[in-house]
Amino acid sequence: MTMPSVALSPAPGTALHGTELCVACGLCLPHCPTYRLTRDEAESPRGRIALLRALAHNDLPLSATAEAHLQHCLACRACEKVCPSHVPYGQLVDAAWALLETHRPATGLHRRSRAILLDRVITVPASLRRIGRLLYWYQRSGLQRLLRASGLLSLFGIGKTEAMLPKLSPAMPAAEFYPAAGERKGAVTLFTGCVASVFDSQTQQATIRLLNALGYDVRVPASQGCCGALHLRVGETEKAQGLMRRNLEAFTEKNLPIITTASGCGALLREYDRHVADNDANLFADRVTDIGQFLAHADWQHLRLKPLPRRVAVHDPCTLTNVLKQERAPHVLLKRIPEAEIVALPENNVCCGGAGAYPLTQPDMARRLRQDKIRYLREMAPDILVTSNIGCALQLGAGIRDTGLDIEVLHPVVLLERQLET
Ligand code: SF4
Ligand code: SF4
Repeated sequence: MTMPSVALSPAPGTALHGTELCVACGLCLPHCPTYRLTRDEAESPRGRIALLRALAHNDLPLSATAEAHLQHCLACRACEKVCPSHVPYGQLVDAAWALLETHRPATGLHRRSRAILLDRVITVPASLRRIGRLLYWYQRSGLQRLLRASGLLSLFGIGKTEAMLPKLSPAMPAAEFYPAAGERKGAVTLFTGCVASVFDSQTQQATIRLLNALGYDVRVPASQGCCGALHLRVGETEKAQGLMRRNLEAFTEKNLPIITTASGCGALLREYDRHVADNDANLFADRVTDIGQFLAHADWQHLRLKPLPRRVAVHDPCTLTNVLKQERAPHVLLKRIPEAEIVALPENNVCCGGAGAYPLTQPDMARRLRQDKIRYLREMAPDILVTSNIGCALQLGAGIRDTGLDIEVLHPVVLLERQLET
């Protein structure tokens, strides 16, 4: 694709002004998963930045091709990490999604069904709990096995989506307070979010048990909800900010850390101050702590872990590496398990394609990105794969089931808690 020349800069202070920092050096290109796959400049960070700059100047109409190049971006921010000019790619990608949203028709089936899913299900805790109970029953009753075997799911075009469903645990009890066991060392608050509270309840329950065993009271504010990432991803900035404000109000105990168990949610919570301009958002962002980071600094002296003579592969989610910068924590923590062989998944710096709803919105690119990970897993033959983000767990878990590999996919906290000696 040929990029047009750019005569003027987007105005300082506007979301797209960051495009001006790009000096087109190309150092980010080998780090971009979509460029690595396609070798197409338009699928690279440099290409997308030039495209955004051209769109901001009205030098280029927003064609379907241009939109596709922007939509293919995983927001993994590998480019931002290596950019010598400090291009704020995270900000640019948010601005790109907001820009795309302004070009969509204001009505239509797509927008209505999206509004139902996002505004009436995912962001409404009671609806989400009902969906969670229904899905749990669907799996436990045998209906899932029956429908998968019948081929009806594929006939109705939902086979691939349904295949991403992990084995669900019963919903978390709706308590707001879980007291420390034994000597009390402190207290924390826990962010449970939306999708993770249904699809990864086992991680949240293991987190509470482990924190209690380490001597921490855990508070789970009932009025919290979705972090806002899903609305941000479709360019609904104001609604995303509304959800962020709900969380700012929910976590009232300002001296306590806010523990996150899904690095995708944690990455956005850590940057609330970039989206909501007030002092509460700054204080909130400073309190956000990934569970791995918290556990790595906790006192484990009074706890014993059972030996696990198994090979455990560790996957580093992009949000843990490029935004939270805590990718070493799971590796260090898991080494506490006697006899466990902890190995890093090769090319951990490359996105697996499980970025939020990406496997549903960009299934072809997501599948291609997953292929290398599955190939490495086949070669390494671990017993367990751990990853600290629910999106990555769903994406890699689906690939593992697809290829018939016998590898359990867990959050590192689940494995640690499972090995606790009681
Ligand atoms: S590394 Fe930074 S400055 Fe260089 S092309 Fe990529 S975004 Fe632009
Ligand atoms: S965020 Fe990731 S996918 Fe998007 S341009 Fe940067 S490196 Fe490429």
